[in-house]
Amino acid sequence: MCIFCKIANGEIATNYLYESEQVLAFNDLAPQAPTHILVIPRAHYENAAELAAADSATMSELFAAGRGLAAKLDLDGYRITFNTGANAGQSVFHAHMHLLGGRPFAWPPG
Ligand code: AMP
Repeated sequence: MCIFCKIANGEIATNYLYESEQVLAFNDLAPQAPTHILVIPRAHYENAAELAAADSATMSELFAAGRGLAAKLDLDGYRITFNTGANAGQSVFHAHMHLLGGRPFAWPPG
């Protein structure tokens, strides 16, 4: 079973920052910014494209959770990223949205 499925089913104890029937949010283990939260579907999809194709309502919920957390944390600008495919830096193959904030970000990303 993949690591995010284990987080979703409680096998790996994790402090959830947000949870609903379909979606969970928790802190990234290796934060790349003062705020670095992952928002994931509970159900396993390999990447964001597969999730969007199969369940657009849950995909929308990921964005809504991200917006809510950014507001709650009063982030002064934030970046939302879906690394999709190994060539784009994806390392965990369970769809997840990165919500990064708390520092300025450069563009283009590396
Ligand atoms: P990506 O490289 O886009 O697939 O992002 C995967 C993210 O998951 C990385 O930022 C990792 O630091 C993070 N990560 C991996 N394992 C865990 C874990 N057990 N708990 C929290 N974050 C994790």
